[in-house]
Amino acid sequence: MAITPKDIDRLIREHGLGACLECGKCTAICPMSEVFGDIEYGHTPRGIVEKALFDSDLITGDAIWYCLTCEVCTKGCPSGVRFRDFMEELREMMIAAGHDEHGVRCRLCNRYFVPEPSLKMMIAKMDVKDSTPEFLLTCPKCKTRDFGRKMM
Ligand code: SF4
Ligand code: SF4
Repeated sequence: MAITPKDIDRLIREHGLGACLECGKCTAICPMSEVFGDIEYGHTPRGIVEKALFDSDLITGDAIWYCLTCEVCTKGCPSGVRFRDFMEELREMMIAAGHDEHGVRCRLCNRYFVPEPSLKMMIAKMDVKDSTPEFLLTCPKCKTRDFGRKMM
């Protein structure tokens, strides 16, 4: 089912984005730039909130797939904007609507479990030479199931 502007509006309402004061604190305390290096304004929480409120095309491009869903911005927001929850629900909505170009699916159960930028960053940090290790392509549930089987 396609995502409509109404769906985005509902998420904006439910997670309080309309209360944003444009203070920029979320972006200042967000760890994304430490993890990914230079990060475009459009990928930052403040940039995404702005886009959601004034543009609403969050679907095109990869901007919403960099957030690490750590909740630092939500805890620090003076206005109660629940950015992390907004981001998680938006991604789930996009995957369900077939926009999964930037969402990695588990090699075993085929469920989405990690954004592509996070996976790429992990691969880069591990300095993998030939192929991506299977455990990086396996969701936590399947990893646990696999581990349980091996222990039997
Ligand atoms: S910290 Fe909260 S109020 Fe400030 S820019 Fe970010 S979302 Fe808006
Ligand atoms: S939840 Fe996402 S946007 Fe917010 S601080 Fe963490 S990485 Fe940054």
